[in-house]
Amino acid sequence: NRYVVIKAHVDGPPKESHFEIKSEVISLELEAGSEDTIVKNLYVSIDPYQINRMKSYSSSQSSINLAAPVNPGEGIDTYGVAKVVASGNPEFQKDDLVAGLVSWGEYTVIKPGGLLKKLDPMGFPLSYHVGTLAFSGLTAYAGFFQVCKPKKGEKVFVSAASGSVGHLVGQYAKLLGCYVVGCAGTDEKVALLKEKLGFDHAFNYKEETDLKATLKSYFPEGIDIYFDNVGAEMQEAAVSNMSLFGRIAVCGVISEYTNTGRKASPDMIDVVYKRIKIQGFLASDFLNIFTEFLSTTCDHLLTGKMKPLEDISDGLESIPLAFVGLFYGQNIGKKIVKIADE
Ligand code: NDP
Repeated sequence: NRYVVIKAHVDGPPKESHFEIKSEVISLELEAGSEDTIVKNLYVSIDPYQINRMKSYSSSQSSINLAAPVNPGEGIDTYGVAKVVASGNPEFQKDDLVAGLVSWGEYTVIKPGGLLKKLDPMGFPLSYHVGTLAFSGLTAYAGFFQVCKPKKGEKVFVSAASGSVGHLVGQYAKLLGCYVVGCAGTDEKVALLKEKLGFDHAFNYKEETDLKATLKSYFPEGIDIYFDNVGAEMQEAAVSNMSLFGRIAVCGVISEYTNTGRKASPDMIDVVYKRIKIQGFLASDFLNIFTEFLSTTCDHLLTGKMKPLEDISDGLESIPLAFVGLFYGQNIGKKIVKIADE
């Protein structure tokens, strides 16, 4: 079994050289009486939050470390789609397709009670079940509908709008009848948002020198909802352009993950007088609406109302570059690595 590890804790921007591939010999047969499940990983998720697990404790940004740390030399767990090779757990049979917590490796041995479920692909590509129809999608759906509580016609701004979560938020918002503006880091992404995904406007934030003025030009009457994926100065600019009773869902602050000195410091007087609600959230808070999210999103995909963007690299060896690329804007849509064919 080959798998990806970090060589040492990663503080600051990640590089490919922070990672290596280790090998171990594992048996693909279970010992008598074992209740483990051995799966062959097919597609694995590549997510920005993993960087926060890789930091050394002293540089951790938060006193609350909700995600278990990743230690040098140890396997790294992630969401993915896999096929059962052997199982002593009566819930799974050999050759079942499953989705759940696997690893950045060729095989994963999952203990009973591990986060794994049988997967019915419902006619969709298996890769959809890594992001769009799994946690990225749930994050977008729950963050937008439950946290932002949108109404038809409201004005919505999304950052990292061509990314895994962002491009879905923008499309849910358009389907509800909102005015939607997104920002992204290349002109190619901006064109995609406007021409393929139906955003009303999009802009390349790297080319703007005055973000407050830029947002003012797209939202002369104010922003009702800001779906924040990036934090820092974009959050500050959004707060200064929010409408009365605006809502900000803080989904993530990727621009702060690799730079501990960088923090959003929005004008709190604005927050008070405009009665802005700023709420962080985790997708895992919303597992109770997973079924609703899944059926709504499947309908939108089947009717062609939503277009998922995926960015799939091939092979275990591509994981370090795929992961590092998230922090340099190299992905368009959900970043996934395909480890093996079914
Ligand atoms: P994306 O697919 O959006 O990939 C990351 C993107 O972020 C890059 O492509 C890049 O696009 C942008 N980016 C990278 N560095 C910076 C920077 N310094 N400043 C501004 N933008 C940057 O990732 P996800 O959709 O998976 O995640 C988006 C956010 O949502 C992250 O903050 C993540 O941690 C968070 N998240 C939160 C969850 C929750 O439960 N709360 C669940 C899943 C994700 P660009 O070209 O536009 O710069």
